[in-house]
Amino acid sequence: MSTIAIIVAAGRGKRAATTQSAPPKQFALLAGKPLLSHTIDALERHRAIDRILVAIHPGDASHYAGCAASGQAKLLAPVAGGATRQASVRAALESLVRDPPDIVLIHDAARPFVDSALITRVMDGLAVADASLPGIPVSDTLKRVEGRGAVLDTLSRTALWRAQTPQAARFRDALAAHRAAAAAGLEEFTDDAALLQWHGLTVHMVEGSEANVKITTADDLARSDMALRAAAREETRTGQGFDVHRFTKGDHVWLCGVRIPHTHALDGHSDADVALHALTDALLGAIGDGDIGQHFPPSDERWRGAPSQLFLTDAAQRVARRGGRIVNVDVTLLCEAPRIGPHRVEMATRIAEILALTADRVGVKATTTERLGFTGRREGIAAMAIATIVLPDNR
Ligand code: MG
Repeated sequence: MSTIAIIVAAGRGKRAATTQSAPPKQFALLAGKPLLSHTIDALERHRAIDRILVAIHPGDASHYAGCAASGQAKLLAPVAGGATRQASVRAALESLVRDPPDIVLIHDAARPFVDSALITRVMDGLAVADASLPGIPVSDTLKRVEGRGAVLDTLSRTALWRAQTPQAARFRDALAAHRAAAAAGLEEFTDDAALLQWHGLTVHMVEGSEANVKITTADDLARSDMALRAAAREETRTGQGFDVHRFTKGDHVWLCGVRIPHTHALDGHSDADVALHALTDALLGAIGDGDIGQHFPPSDERWRGAPSQLFLTDAAQRVARRGGRIVNVDVTLLCEAPRIGPHRVEMATRIAEILALTADRVGVKATTTERLGFTGRREGIAAMAIATIVLPDNR
């Protein structure tokens, strides 16, 4: 059974905006991370979800890039949504026709607090019906009120539930129902369960969660932000790395992923990029996960001549898998030659690209050692690095 979770994130979400120029609410920051990233991560954690597809507004591509930058393994390339929620879901379903899953879960981007137990209950609901959704029985007394506030009457709340997402169905049913609704000119269903039911499918309600709120207003955003920050309990870690490679015959060296013409090359099993090696060790050090030699032993033929960005990318992925993010990195090269200054910006840019960091989070510096020691005698190059990361505090 393969399952794809579709996240509907194409809305303009202006009700939660604090200013006109603010991004749509699904990209607003919650505890320092875009709301949509929280939602993606929540779905990513569920074992039965194989892939995640996000429908976005075409104008939001740059906002979206910030949500998809932390190496979520299940995330597919986004699909362009439509003018309505329903049109966005249909666009996502149509994009999956060539490689369809068995089950689809359709989820609102604005519900970042969905938990795995709830997702499991929704999926289990498909055992008894064509479609399944979570909900909460209404506990407040319901009043019907006219425009100026006069109460007309009190409604029975018996059998009334508030619908949530994710909502689940078999892919072929969901696709057929959405195609039929579009063909009939019905474009305003506010959830997929209603559309599927209209198409004649049976729908089953399972227990939702009060925590699975839909963030709608600026107030909702602020409240969730405070709650998340209180619960986040992040800890800051640092790691350092140091590496040396000796000069050998050659006409260029690799430093920080940049090829620099030189009178010598650096000797090493890989491309001998001493700076990226030190930086890789700094990241590994920050998460207590061994060192570069342990993960990429020089005895392994696979790494002969390998570009060292492979090692750095691997270390960054190890940080990401722990739920961490890199705050900043700083590299110092020690050598008399080649001159680093002319290449510094390119080096920092290269590291920023590899680690998906902004430029101000990457330092590259160089110094000579006043002709003292092995670097002073031009026998090789040394590099030092330090990395700062934040990790969820699981103590
Ligand atoms: Mg090395």
